[in-house]
Amino acid sequence: MSEKEDCIFCQIAKKKIKVEIVYESDNFLAFPDKNPKVEGHTLIIPKKHFVNLIDMPADLGSELLDVIKRIFEIKKYQGFNLIMNNGDVAGQLVMHAHLHFFPRKKGDGIHSLPT
Ligand code: AMP
Ligand code: ZN
Repeated sequence: MSEKEDCIFCQIAKKKIKVEIVYESDNFLAFPDKNPKVEGHTLIIPKKHFVNLIDMPADLGSELLDVIKRIFEIKKYQGFNLIMNNGDVAGQLVMHAHLHFFPRKKGDGIHSLPT
Protein backbone atom coordinates (compact mmCIF):
# COMPACT_ATOMS: atom_id res chain seq x y z
CA MET A 1 0.00 0.00 0.00
CA SER A 2 1.55 3.33 -0.96
CA GLU A 3 -0.57 5.66 1.18
CA LYS A 4 -3.06 5.26 4.01
CA GLU A 5 -5.45 8.21 4.40
CA ASP A 6 -5.55 8.26 8.19
CA CYS A 7 -1.83 7.62 8.69
CA ILE A 8 0.10 10.55 10.14
CA PHE A 9 3.44 9.37 8.74
CA CYS A 10 1.94 8.97 5.23
CA GLN A 11 0.81 12.59 5.47
CA ILE A 12 4.33 13.61 6.51
CA ALA A 13 5.84 11.51 3.70
CA LYS A 14 3.51 13.14 1.17
CA LYS A 15 4.45 16.56 2.64
CA LYS A 16 0.83 17.28 3.54
CA ILE A 17 2.13 17.94 7.05
CA LYS A 18 5.26 20.08 7.15
CA VAL A 19 8.22 18.83 9.14
CA GLU A 20 11.88 19.73 9.26
CA ILE A 21 13.56 17.36 6.83
CA VAL A 22 16.71 15.90 8.40
CA TYR A 23 17.45 13.77 5.35
CA GLU A 24 15.57 12.51 2.30
CA SER A 25 16.26 9.79 -0.23
CA ASP A 26 14.11 8.30 -2.99
CA ASN A 27 12.24 6.01 -0.63
CA PHE A 28 12.91 7.37 2.88
CA LEU A 29 12.38 10.53 4.88
CA ALA A 30 14.01 11.46 8.18
CA PHE A 31 12.53 14.12 10.48
CA PRO A 32 12.62 15.04 14.17
CA ASP A 33 10.50 13.05 16.62
CA LYS A 34 7.92 15.44 18.08
CA ASN A 35 8.66 14.11 21.59
CA PRO A 36 12.45 13.84 21.49
CA LYS A 37 13.92 11.46 24.06
CA VAL A 38 17.41 12.86 23.41
CA GLU A 39 18.69 15.89 21.49
CA GLY A 40 18.46 15.13 17.76
CA HIS A 41 16.05 12.19 18.18
CA THR A 42 15.10 11.47 14.57
CA LEU A 43 12.59 9.18 12.89
CA ILE A 44 13.40 7.47 9.60
CA ILE A 45 10.35 6.33 7.65
CA PRO A 46 9.75 4.69 4.28
CA LYS A 47 7.72 7.06 2.09
CA LYS A 48 5.34 4.22 1.23
CA HIS A 49 3.04 2.82 3.87
CA PHE A 50 4.47 -0.34 5.38
CA VAL A 51 3.23 -1.35 8.81
CA ASN A 52 6.60 -2.36 10.20
CA LEU A 53 9.89 -4.06 9.29
CA ILE A 54 8.21 -7.38 8.50
CA ASP A 55 5.96 -5.62 5.99
CA MET A 56 8.87 -3.89 4.21
CA PRO A 57 10.46 -5.37 1.06
CA ALA A 58 14.01 -6.51 1.71
CA ASP A 59 15.32 -4.63 -1.31
CA LEU A 60 14.82 -1.34 0.55
CA GLY A 61 17.37 -2.53 3.09
CA SER A 62 20.45 -1.20 1.37
CA GLU A 63 18.96 2.27 0.84
CA LEU A 64 17.88 2.34 4.48
CA LEU A 65 21.40 1.49 5.60
CA ASP A 66 22.69 4.30 3.43
CA VAL A 67 20.21 6.81 4.93
CA ILE A 68 21.38 5.88 8.44
CA LYS A 69 25.03 6.34 7.45
CA ARG A 70 24.36 9.65 5.69
CA ILE A 71 22.58 11.12 8.73
CA PHE A 72 25.48 10.06 10.94
CA GLU A 73 28.02 11.63 8.57
CA ILE A 74 26.17 14.85 7.75
CA LYS A 75 25.36 15.61 11.39
CA LYS A 76 28.86 14.63 12.50
CA TYR A 77 27.50 12.62 15.43
CA GLN A 78 29.92 10.73 17.67
CA GLY A 79 27.68 7.67 17.84
CA PHE A 80 24.04 6.64 17.81
CA ASN A 81 21.50 4.05 18.87
CA LEU A 82 18.80 2.64 16.62
CA ILE A 83 15.52 1.29 17.95
CA MET A 84 12.62 -0.06 15.93
CA ASN A 85 9.40 -1.09 17.61
CA ASN A 86 7.66 -3.75 15.54
CA GLY A 87 4.15 -4.65 16.65
CA ASP A 88 2.01 -3.25 19.44
CA VAL A 89 3.43 -5.79 21.91
CA ALA A 90 6.84 -4.24 21.18
CA GLY A 91 5.57 -0.74 21.93
CA GLN A 92 4.79 0.37 18.37
CA LEU A 93 2.24 3.18 18.56
CA VAL A 94 2.36 4.54 15.01
CA MET A 95 1.59 1.72 12.57
CA HIS A 96 3.78 3.06 9.76
CA ALA A 97 7.29 1.58 9.86
CA HIS A 98 9.86 3.87 11.49
CA LEU A 99 13.31 3.68 12.98
CA HIS A 100 14.26 5.79 15.98
CA PHE A 101 17.74 7.30 15.53
CA PHE A 102 19.22 8.52 18.82
CA PRO A 103 22.42 10.56 18.49
CA ARG A 104 24.90 9.94 21.27
CA LYS A 105 27.87 11.88 22.54
CA LYS A 106 30.54 11.31 25.14
CA GLY A 107 29.27 11.97 28.64
CA ASP A 108 25.60 12.37 27.63
CA GLY A 109 24.64 10.33 30.69
CA ILE A 110 22.11 8.19 28.81
CA HIS A 111 22.03 4.60 30.04
CA SER A 112 18.75 3.30 28.62
CA LEU A 113 16.50 4.31 25.78
CA PRO A 114 12.90 3.11 26.13
CA THR A 115 10.73 4.57 23.37
P1 AMP B 1 6.59 4.17 18.41
O1 AMP B 1 5.44 3.87 17.46
O2 AMP B 1 6.28 3.82 19.83
O3 AMP B 1 7.89 3.58 17.94
O4 AMP B 1 6.80 5.73 18.45
C1 AMP B 1 6.16 6.64 17.63
C2 AMP B 1 6.93 7.92 17.72
O5 AMP B 1 6.39 8.82 16.76
C3 AMP B 1 6.88 8.61 19.08
O6 AMP B 1 8.22 8.80 19.56
C4 AMP B 1 6.18 9.94 18.77
O7 AMP B 1 6.71 11.01 19.53
C5 AMP B 1 6.45 10.11 17.30
N1 AMP B 1 5.47 10.90 16.57
C6 AMP B 1 4.14 10.70 16.51
N2 AMP B 1 3.54 11.61 15.71
C7 AMP B 1 4.54 12.41 15.25
C8 AMP B 1 4.58 13.54 14.38
N3 AMP B 1 3.47 14.05 13.84
N4 AMP B 1 5.77 14.12 14.13
C9 AMP B 1 6.90 13.62 14.68
N5 AMP B 1 6.93 12.55 15.50
C10 AMP B 1 5.76 11.95 15.79
ZN1 ZN C 1 1.50 5.40 6.57
